[in-house]
Amino acid sequence: MTLRNVVIVGSGPAGYTSAIYLSRAGLKPLVVTGALTPGGQLVNTTEVENYPGFPDGILGPDLMDAMKAQAAKFGTEFVSADVESVAEVSADGNDGKPTYHLTLDTGEELDARAVIIATGSSYRKLGVPGEAEYSGHGVSYCATCDGFFFRNKPIVVVGGGDSAFEEALYLTRFGSSVTLIHRRNEFRASAIMVERARANEKLTLLTDTVVTAIHGEAPAAPAGGLKLALNKPAGGLSLGGNAIGGGLAVPAAAPAVGNVSSIDIRNTVTGETGTLETKAVFVAIGHTPATGFLGDLVDRDEDGYVLVDGASTRTSHPGVFAAGDCVDRVYRQAISAAGMGCRAALDAQEYLTA
Ligand SMILES: Cc1cc2nc3c(=O)[nH]c(=O)nc-3n(C[C@H](O)[C@H](O)[C@H](O)COP(=O)(O)OP(=O)(O)OC[C@H]3O[C@@H](n4cnc5c(N)ncnc54)[C@H](O)[C@@H]3O)c2cc1C
Repeated sequence: MTLRNVVIVGSGPAGYTSAIYLSRAGLKPLVVTGALTPGGQLVNTTEVENYPGFPDGILGPDLMDAMKAQAAKFGTEFVSADVESVAEVSADGNDGKPTYHLTLDTGEELDARAVIIATGSSYRKLGVPGEAEYSGHGVSYCATCDGFFFRNKPIVVVGGGDSAFEEALYLTRFGSSVTLIHRRNEFRASAIMVERARANEKLTLLTDTVVTAIHGEAPAAPAGGLKLALNKPAGGLSLGGNAIGGGLAVPAAAPAVGNVSSIDIRNTVTGETGTLETKAVFVAIGHTPATGFLGDLVDRDEDGYVLVDGASTRTSHPGVFAAGDCVDRVYRQAISAAGMGCRAALDAQEYLTA
């Protein structure tokens, strides 16, 4: 079997950026794109307005197609599959360094001198009626990405950890009001975040409460006045973080759904039910990194994020590097994933040529 220089697992901004750098360096990388979402999370959204270089915004699928074309131009190869496992094999014939054996769900097998893990993460879902239907129509999983679209509108955030509080506080810059809903009476978030939230006039904390359903208004009339801005928000056609990528005709054919208008809630202590009007529901109950297939190969934290050595992308295993949302539980943006993909490529290049 051919021993490749480097196999990149994942084809989001981190994976494609690694591929651009490594192919330009003449190292002929191969990208295993993922079977269901080649192009990563951004193929499930419409307009991306915060990726540098596109003052008028760019559609997520177009951005990812352009990244792929740029990687292909310099000689990157692509295989459409999921990696099922990665194992270290002998160091023979590779300057005393380990080699890696990857098994794909297609049955194909690959050997590589270095591996870059860029498999991203998926948002945890509430799992209530209306969540999937109104994803991209008021249901969002990313305040940084979508808060802007809900200026002067009532917003709900669901969650009780630091991320939920950060998102809620951030969203007070945009919303007419922000209601943070948490199923318990106590928060996992740090005391200082809770204090800040309590001190913010725009923010209301609703505890012991769960969202049981999300409702929307009737769809707007088709043609001309497609409300792309309001319809854009994250999760657009999000199918559980593993949506089928590529062929989503997002802006041309608006799905026949309106925007979020209200939610049903239930008090977990009294059982009392009610309805709350809102234009947006930001779900902030955590992420699941797609790293289970790595087994014990590299160190991961308790939530499954790959651990790297300081500011580098080196994992606990020499020759295995990791980048993007499968490492980064904080920033989780396309540009930060791309930046880390660049670092992984440079780290791998140094490792391979040392
Ligand atoms: C709906 C939505 C809207 C967003 N909007 C914005 C925005 O406007 N601006 C912004 O900056 N960020 C936005 N984000 C966040 C951004 O998309 C992510 O931060 C970014 O895509 C992370 O890049 P990544 O390369 O780390 O991983 P991902 O983009 O998640 O890509 C991971 C890749 O790994 C593949 N994969 C997973 N497991 C395997 C496996 N076992 N084998 C092979 N391949 C595998 C997947 O198929 C996928 O191709 C949005 C996210 C979502 C969901």
